[in-house]
Amino acid sequence: MAKSTEVKIAVFGRAGVGKSALLVRFLTKRFIWEYDPTLESTYRHQTTIDDEAVAMELLDTAGQQEDPLQREGHIRWGEGFIIVYDITDRGSFEDVMTFKNLLDEVKKPKNVTFILVGNKADLGHSRQVSTEEGEKLATELACAFYECSACTGEGNITEVFYELCREIRRR
Ligand code: GDP
Ligand code: MG
Repeated sequence: MAKSTEVKIAVFGRAGVGKSALLVRFLTKRFIWEYDPTLESTYRHQTTIDDEAVAMELLDTAGQQEDPLQREGHIRWGEGFIIVYDITDRGSFEDVMTFKNLLDEVKKPKNVTFILVGNKADLGHSRQVSTEEGEKLATELACAFYECSACTGEGNITEVFYELCREIRRR
């Protein structure tokens, strides 16, 4: 049997945006309300994307709890990134640029492979960031964009991870 391609993906975003919830939704198709926000974990996930075996390594970062050196290590480690914001938290949307700049800084002169995700789409009533603003930022940053909900599973979370894997392999 052919050896599977390995891809390393790290998830970044302000504390509380739902990084852990998104990862667990992708891996288990379930939603768990509370996680230790300081928790940093890695997961392995074996799957098949477009008839190719892929071994994913996934890193759930701990946001603000990370020290700069640790964060730099995570960025060096990653081949692709998911930057997450919370559609009900404008500050988390403004943080996206901070994360993007950090990724650029560490990865230069290489281009960073990443996807932008607006999470908590189920909380439309307290929305602070419109879908159009998310799309506009993604266009500016030349990345794919998804709105989704780790809570309800809407927005095709699986596709976020698969699409990032495809982009990593294309490089
Ligand atoms: P992290 O700090 O980025 O890892 O965020 P967590 O995954 O720990 O989630 C932070 C809080 O937001 C928790 O209370 C979650 O239950 C909640 N949460 C995460 N994703 C969603 C979502 O899609 N919808 C809703 N309504 N709540 C969410
Ligand atoms: Mg977390």
